[in-house]
Amino acid sequence: MPGAAIPRSMNDFAKRLIAWHRRYGRHDLPWQGTRDPYPVWLSEVMLQQTQVGTVIPYYRRFLARFPDVAGLARATLEEVLRVWAGLGYYSRARNLHQAARTIVDEYGGRFPATRDALEVLPGVGRSTAAAIAAIAFGAREAVLDGNVRRVLARHFAVGGFAGTRAVENTLWSLAESLLPARSIETYTQALMDIGAMVCTRASPGCGQCPLASSCVALARGRVAAYPAPRPRRTRPVRSVGMLVLLRDGEVLLEKRPPTGIWGGLWSFPELSADGDVAAHCAARLGCEVDSPVALAPLRHGFTHFTLDIRPFRCDVRRVKARAEQPGKAWFTLQQVENGAVPVPVPVKRLLRRLGGA
Ligand code: SF4
Repeated sequence: MPGAAIPRSMNDFAKRLIAWHRRYGRHDLPWQGTRDPYPVWLSEVMLQQTQVGTVIPYYRRFLARFPDVAGLARATLEEVLRVWAGLGYYSRARNLHQAARTIVDEYGGRFPATRDALEVLPGVGRSTAAAIAAIAFGAREAVLDGNVRRVLARHFAVGGFAGTRAVENTLWSLAESLLPARSIETYTQALMDIGAMVCTRASPGCGQCPLASSCVALARGRVAAYPAPRPRRTRPVRSVGMLVLLRDGEVLLEKRPPTGIWGGLWSFPELSADGDVAAHCAARLGCEVDSPVALAPLRHGFTHFTLDIRPFRCDVRRVKARAEQPGKAWFTLQQVENGAVPVPVPVKRLLRRLGGA
């Protein structure tokens, strides 16, 4: 049963964090120092599953290409995916694009300012909506991202896995009860920073932590016990065959359906892992190929499963119907390499292995 022992000094929890942040917090990230909700939103979405260091170059590139919400709404999904390619979790890019169109169509291009309204936008959950509302609009809203969860779970010794409803509710209640009356933007940033910089997952710096004097986990000598890990479950493995059809310096790719993994990106044609490659190329892709060569398998991890890719190199002898089939196209290896066509990371890796892209 999760429980939260509230220390006497809880009232100055926010005060200590704010004072710490003024001195030690991060102030120079490229999305800081603005109240413009567009970059705040963009950075919050990019940071949802990705570390700051990885996000920064993508953030800069994205903002240079789509400097405001109207520009993003005008772009095609393909353009957006091209700029996003490599950052992973592509549903974030699709949701950004769709949300930009909603903001333009339904709000006249102005961001809604409340957490409730922001939360309805595609790809914006409760915590992201709260972060935008707090940082861009000064709303008194509580955030609870992965870093904040960890800080609260340790500081208040909240047991149990944070993915369960009961623990989640406890953490949200704590997060809300701690909100200061003023300086909500600084407090929000401070809480996220303390989780990212001090109360880190593997090596918390309790000696430098402004919350140490009231931290229950530290007092009990049980910092490592919080937050409780996800109950073990094995991630299923799915296998798929991928066909690398090459012809005169070009590769055949097909556009994936708009939803699902790598939605909207271009990838290799697939077949079941034990399918007949040459027959598939002839019957489905209109290509006669030399004996297909099995390449070293490749593993790609997704949140809920692992994809076991069995690639086959197929040198095309003859294209029976060169006519572009819907959703399929030949691209030069250079187009793939220079990002002119949005592809998932394994496609680039495979082509590089072949010395092509
Ligand atoms: S004292 Fe240690 S465990 Fe407690 S909040 Fe600070 S860094 Fe985290």
